[in-house]
Amino acid sequence: MSICELTAHALHEKLKAREITAQELTEAVYERIAEVEPDVKGYLTLTKDSALEQACRADTGFQNGEEMPPLAGIPIAIKDVICTRGVRTTCGSKILENFVPPYDATVMTKLHKQGVVMIGKTNMDEFAMGSSTENSAYQITHNPWNLDTIPGGSSGGSAAVVSADTAICSLGSDTGGSIRQPAALCGVVGMKPTYGRVSRYGLVAFASSLDQIGPFTKDITDCALVLNAICGSDALDATSVDVPVPDFTQSLINDVKGLKIGVPKEYFTPALDPEIADSVSAAIAVLEGLGATVEEVSLPHTEYAIATYYIIAPAEASANLARYDGVRYGYRNANPGDLISMYKKTRSEGFGEEVKRRIMLGTFALSAGYQDAYYKKAQKVRTLIKSDFDAAFEKVDVIATPTSPTPAFKIGERTADPLQMYLSDVMTTPASHAGLPGISVPCGLVKSGLPVGLQLLGAPFAEENVLRVAYTFEQNTEHHRQKPHIQTNGVG
Ligand code: GLN
Repeated sequence: MSICELTAHALHEKLKAREITAQELTEAVYERIAEVEPDVKGYLTLTKDSALEQACRADTGFQNGEEMPPLAGIPIAIKDVICTRGVRTTCGSKILENFVPPYDATVMTKLHKQGVVMIGKTNMDEFAMGSSTENSAYQITHNPWNLDTIPGGSSGGSAAVVSADTAICSLGSDTGGSIRQPAALCGVVGMKPTYGRVSRYGLVAFASSLDQIGPFTKDITDCALVLNAICGSDALDATSVDVPVPDFTQSLINDVKGLKIGVPKEYFTPALDPEIADSVSAAIAVLEGLGATVEEVSLPHTEYAIATYYIIAPAEASANLARYDGVRYGYRNANPGDLISMYKKTRSEGFGEEVKRRIMLGTFALSAGYQDAYYKKAQKVRTLIKSDFDAAFEKVDVIATPTSPTPAFKIGERTADPLQMYLSDVMTTPASHAGLPGISVPCGLVKSGLPVGLQLLGAPFAEENVLRVAYTFEQNTEHHRQKPHIQTNGVG
């Protein structure tokens, strides 16, 4: 077994015992990248020189017998929506092609404090708008389980590199499902913490009332370790919430006795792929067999979540993306003419089709005469969706659903039909509206060999319940051990 397949916690033991060095580990990851990255295409930028320097620093600590943090020397990949000081951050967009942030996002400062090794920046849908990573202005990322299929999105690169063992773990962002859905489609663990749990300072804004940063990992223990590193309130982000951050490794309890799991009937519709329904139902039965109480719950406003999301998210995006005007940074048309034509040319050329569609949708939803009919109404429906969850969490500790209604689909299959693409998020957007923590855990494969994800949701700031159920499931099943066999073209 290659060391790239190991988890961060297993590697930490090896680093501590000095069985391997962080530099050897980093080199092994770049060798793996040379082998499979030409086919997977998960990275936009590789940062080998600084990675080796970071690894060398971690090695010095281990050699000196210092008490090293759990993520010291661990190779990690970062979605290209997170600002990294001195390292190009494109957000998957031509408009930020040459943007090199002069500062680190708070999550990066926290990870560097742990001594991580940043391998590179991962591909994504432009401005995190999409469910397949096909909206990247640069390249299409391929799902390691079947290179003809998409890895999910918008954090498709971050999911694919963990699945392909070209990183040990990674960070993504989730606005309407962009961590959970690609995690499900790539067969890895992906978690969106509660809105406000992780600082968004330095996360390029898409829809500010929904955006949240979270980890992709190979198992639940690693997920807890990354959460420990990145959570906490931050004076630089007014939406980060000042609540105590528990030690999430304390939630790694292999026992669900006494916990109540709710299964919302609205998620098991005819639109759900029957093989996914079977895998998820089997996973819920495993939890019941282990002593959890399982009961049906109702979340009656679920069917409005997508329509609501596609008003609120574009409305916020249209405001957030107003800053890309060619004046202060980013792309500017070479023959701008007067100011108005400079804005027009710059934004027409700099943004891709989906981003333009969202800006237009959002601007319309906020425009005079329509704001009440669309935006205000969507906000009211959002409250109803949140109230459904509040009522359900009076009765249960965790809610279990499928993460995605289908397994990974073929590249190109949904690009011509935006509505079809938007429906990929039908199971993840409700929890986004309510700001809830949610995880996707591998729970099996469909007959064609593609992974299925079980989504577990908790009440706000109840990540611990979610982790405990996820951990128990993992410890009593083998799904997380299944790996893709990447059919390389022999390019690498
Ligand atoms: N797929 C959804 C969208 O296109 C969610 C994206 C996300 O969570 N960033 O907006």
